[in-house]
Amino acid sequence: MKEIKLKNCPCCPEGEARFHINYSILANNSGEVAVMCRNCKLSTDYIQISADYAAKEKAAELWNQRVEVESTIAPDDFDWHGFAEVLGQLYVFMDKLADANRRTKTDE
Ligand SMILES: [Zn+2]
Repeated sequence: MKEIKLKNCPCCPEGEARFHINYSILANNSGEVAVMCRNCKLSTDYIQISADYAAKEKAAELWNQRVEVESTIAPDDFDWHGFAEVLGQLYVFMDKLADANRRTKTDE
């Protein structure tokens, strides 16, 4: 059986991920599998184990995919400088807004 590589948890980079399998004796020894972080217990949905597809690989795909999505939110070349500038302007605007608010209140 080929080894499935699991990425580390996106919430705690030191968090090692592993397969978590629930077996149901009542349902013909079938079960379900998910990938779970050993540290914070973050987990994928449980995938029903069946003959139709490799549930472990499906769960691993879900887990690894989510990590990819996470990393595209702020890629390495993300413009943090431009972002900070926009954020700064937003704070100035909010300050003015709060100021105007205060003035209208005292005018009453
Ligand atoms: Zn974790």
